[in-house]
Amino acid sequence: MSRFFITTAIDYVNSRPHLGTAYEKVCADVIARYKRLAGVETRFLMGNDEHSQNVYKKAIEEGLSPLAYCDQMEQVFRASWSALNISFDDFIRTTEPRHRAGVSEISRRLFATGEIYDGVYEGWYCVGCEAFKQEKDLVNGRCPLHPTLEPQWIKERNHFFRLSKYQDRLLQHYAAHPEFIEPEPRRNEILRLVEGGLDDISISRAGQSWGIPLPFDADSVAYVWFDALVNYASAVGLGTDERLLEHWWPASLHLIGKDITRFHTVIWPAMLLAANLPLPKKVFGHGFMTVNGQRMSKSLGTVIDPVEAARRFGADPLRLYLVKEIPFGGDGDFSWDRYDERYNADLANNLGNLVSRVASMAERYRQGVLRPSGAAPGRLTHVAEEAVASYRGSMEALALHEGAAAAFRIVDATNEFIAETAPWTLAKDPANADRLSQALFDSAEAIRLAAVLLTPIMPAASAEILRRVGVSGANLHLDRDGQWRNHGERRLAVEGPLWPRKESSTVSDESVRPAVPAAPPAHHPAAAAAPPPTAAPAGDKISIDDFMKVELRVARVLAAERVPKSKKLLKLSVDTGVDQRTIVAGIAEAYEPEALIGRTIAIVFNLAPAKLMGIESQGMVLAGSVDGGKPVLVSFEEALPPGARVR
Ligand SMILES: [Zn+2]
Repeated sequence: MSRFFITTAIDYVNSRPHLGTAYEKVCADVIARYKRLAGVETRFLMGNDEHSQNVYKKAIEEGLSPLAYCDQMEQVFRASWSALNISFDDFIRTTEPRHRAGVSEISRRLFATGEIYDGVYEGWYCVGCEAFKQEKDLVNGRCPLHPTLEPQWIKERNHFFRLSKYQDRLLQHYAAHPEFIEPEPRRNEILRLVEGGLDDISISRAGQSWGIPLPFDADSVAYVWFDALVNYASAVGLGTDERLLEHWWPASLHLIGKDITRFHTVIWPAMLLAANLPLPKKVFGHGFMTVNGQRMSKSLGTVIDPVEAARRFGADPLRLYLVKEIPFGGDGDFSWDRYDERYNADLANNLGNLVSRVASMAERYRQGVLRPSGAAPGRLTHVAEEAVASYRGSMEALALHEGAAAAFRIVDATNEFIAETAPWTLAKDPANADRLSQALFDSAEAIRLAAVLLTPIMPAASAEILRRVGVSGANLHLDRDGQWRNHGERRLAVEGPLWPRKESSTVSDESVRPAVPAAPPAHHPAAAAAPPPTAAPAGDKISIDDFMKVELRVARVLAAERVPKSKKLLKLSVDTGVDQRTIVAGIAEAYEPEALIGRTIAIVFNLAPAKLMGIESQGMVLAGSVDGGKPVLVSFEEALPPGARVR
């Protein structure tokens, strides 16, 4: 059985976790849960980095002993991770005896082989980074990451590690194992850095009490980075449990922020080489999170508490946002508006709505019990097979966002499949009973598969979806449960919405609504598409500029219902690619609401809102009709995504 040992960075405990900290833990959790789903023996390590001068200072400010302060903060961190449903197997604190043993062990090994020597360090130290800085690292005399802090000039007798000696061996390792540093931009940075030559580094601080004393010099403590990096090995027995160490070391993946790639891909592997220990298989430096395009910072007021974000819709929607919206490895942005928008689009309108629709059709047409009928399964089987294969490839390659997208391809295809097969039409003719049974079973089966794939990303919601489509969510195994099944009986449960739609606060604000001269005529929607009269170039012709003022776009129907007391109007909720909005369309005499869901239509995107039967319509649906005839929706010969411009 293969094994997978994944770690995240351990966190300084001088402040609560913010969304950026949480991002890393969520992604690591998704990877760990994916590995477990794939049947790999997995160990997922997280922890806290406590021997920092900033932690020490913060404790003194709070009137606590450093350890008592760290005990308190451990509870704060654990509560955050629990709110986000992070499934770590082990949580290490650098003040634990097992970690001290690991740091002592590696220090002893390095000292014994002459890899550590005495010297005097004189130079800059940034307390914000807890790192020694060279003159060239400073901008206007300050650390660029901590421009408000005065760097310290320190001169002390320190112990040095012969890092410079490892330049060639590191370069050889990078060349032999291109997968060691990912993603590519991080690898290139580190290659350039190491090719430029390495300096020996100080690994101790003199005259400090808060830290791990070095075994060969009780008056010095290990430099906080030298101390912290060892956690990955001390958590699996370095210095305490040889058998555990043998079982789990080397780590399969260190997941860290891109700013600390150098520590993990230069200093840490050199320490391991010097201690004659195997190197981790991979170090992945993920990107940074911004909020509304700005760096997360207390002074900018852009710090987001992940627990608060999880409280809005639950942990799963937040996890989905972080994984699906941010290409893994790149930087990503969070905003409350965008979060609400994606929640409505992916969950309320798409996945949640699909689960409800299939359950209610199963109830209406088959008393809630679905079985395959023997009719040929529809094309969903192929879509699902492709999606499962692509999901596996993406997740193995740590393209988490593509894994999420693959799962949602099944969801989208199922919505389209329902629109195409039109179970409500099949239900009208008993001759179609088998086709109807099979179409409903296929839809439920596709939902089951999507939920299996989404389990690492949305563990609680996926279990709930599996329950609603009548299967167990326990002990899932991708090899077995990621296969299309055309057998068995499913009892579907009709229950309330999984994710109620979040109404935007701006939609109901009528005071800012521009006045509209006339409502578009209900049964001739196309006729109202002409822009307001402007200076025409000649006669009754308009210029291309006039035409381009009308923004025609592709949209997808997410929900449709009749407008009460109106024969002609349907209220549609559509995905325009950039938002979801309500459009009232005069097509009720020609289209059943259910038949429209999932359909791609063309809309006037920039039409001023107008009220029809008390409902604000934000745009207009395009349809053709002959005078007095029924409207026929404009459709496209090939698939186009919502938001595509029509011209
Ligand atoms: Zn700094």
